[in-house]
Amino acid sequence: MADDYQDIREAVAALCAGFPGTYWQELDHERRYPKAFVDALTESGFLAALIPEDYGGSGLGIGAAAAILEEIQKAGCNGAACHAQMYIMGTLLRHGSGEQKSKFLPKIATGELRLQAFGVTEPTSGSDTLSLQTNAVRDGDDAYVVNGQKIWTSRVEHTDLMLLLARTTPKAEIESRTGGLSVFLVDVRKALQGGMTVRPIKTMINHATTEVFFDNLRIPADSLIGEEGRGFRYILDGMNAERILIGAECIGDSRWFIKKARDYACERSVFGNPIGKNQGVQFPIARAYAQTEAADLMVKEAARLFDAGEPCGPQANMAKLLASEASWAAADMCMQTYGGFAFAEEFDIERKFRETRLYRIAPVSTNLILSYVGEHVLGMPRSY
Ligand SMILES: Cc1cc2nc3c(=O)[nH]c(=O)nc-3n(C[C@H](O)[C@H](O)[C@H](O)COP(=O)(O)OP(=O)(O)OC[C@H]3O[C@@H](n4cnc5c(N)ncnc54)[C@H](O)[C@@H]3O)c2cc1C
Repeated sequence: MADDYQDIREAVAALCAGFPGTYWQELDHERRYPKAFVDALTESGFLAALIPEDYGGSGLGIGAAAAILEEIQKAGCNGAACHAQMYIMGTLLRHGSGEQKSKFLPKIATGELRLQAFGVTEPTSGSDTLSLQTNAVRDGDDAYVVNGQKIWTSRVEHTDLMLLLARTTPKAEIESRTGGLSVFLVDVRKALQGGMTVRPIKTMINHATTEVFFDNLRIPADSLIGEEGRGFRYILDGMNAERILIGAECIGDSRWFIKKARDYACERSVFGNPIGKNQGVQFPIARAYAQTEAADLMVKEAARLFDAGEPCGPQANMAKLLASEASWAAADMCMQTYGGFAFAEEFDIERKFRETRLYRIAPVSTNLILSYVGEHVLGMPRSY
């Protein structure tokens, strides 16, 4: 591999060493946000990797950002607490006005402003984003009024700004299937003073995810990013980056599970021999390793194309698909290798097992990727 970002990897690993399994287990128990970890990543500048230097970031490519997230997961940490700060600013960067970029990006780069939340999914429409119902109605020259509900809006309690996708033209009046939706940059601090309420959702992982309700929330008209009605396209533009970065997180998880399992298989002695001497134990570890290396090649290829400015939709989608399957297979293998001890919290496997399962569902489910590959890459009939 031409550039595997070894310096970045070592620096991230050194930072993560300060946040061992016990730190994550305690937070997991109490369902608390890993503020100290996120603060440390922010101060180190890693979360600003993708922001151009002109706006105070490091101006690195997606390959470098992927290396950062992979290392975080590989160290047993949980990048899901803050990965959005890295990439959702891409919508602002690509489609925001010069004024919006100058106003927000430098502060996002330093962490003075947190842009951690992304409100797309709704309870009634789910994966069918084009059917979302939250609406933003123009009210005079200076405002929009937002009504509706989002679900699974993660980290909204730990952010200053959120990106919101809302309908600005009723579905019955749109000219193209993907039209009528718009993206807004909402000031969460102001919205919480009136018009927006947040209800945390208890889940099987410590993910700070919530339901968000909008009840006549007035937002300034200049919260709109880009042109009204083009929001879905703007969101699509950011999806390849998201797929690649989540794929990299899965690769990191996979490597964590494989190392744990490999070490345990060498240490744990039963029937007078290390359990790893049995091929029934050794082969699943080797298989998970092979699966992970293959998925990693796809993540790297997608990142290479992305950074070269070439189309990478199929590769980014397949990277996320293959990496999430590799990490889940590695998680299951690690559980099996540890036997009963896998269930003991102190080994941290059950936490990572729960956490990595998410990626076969969010931010896009496996089936939706398969339908993208089936229909857009292989040219088979559309199902929806
Ligand atoms: C912990 C967590 C955090 C999240 N964070 C965010 C966030 O920050 N912001 C945000 O906007 N969203 C977030 N999400 C939402 C996430 O992106 C969705 O859960 C995901 O896209 C799947 O949508 P859904 O849950 O509505 O499932 P549904 O769309 O209801 O689908 C249910 C199942 O049916 C399958 N399915 C649906 N349609 C088809 C089809 N046509 N063909 C084949 N299979 C189909 C799906 O693959 C899935 O397995 C989060 C979710 C979770 C669980």
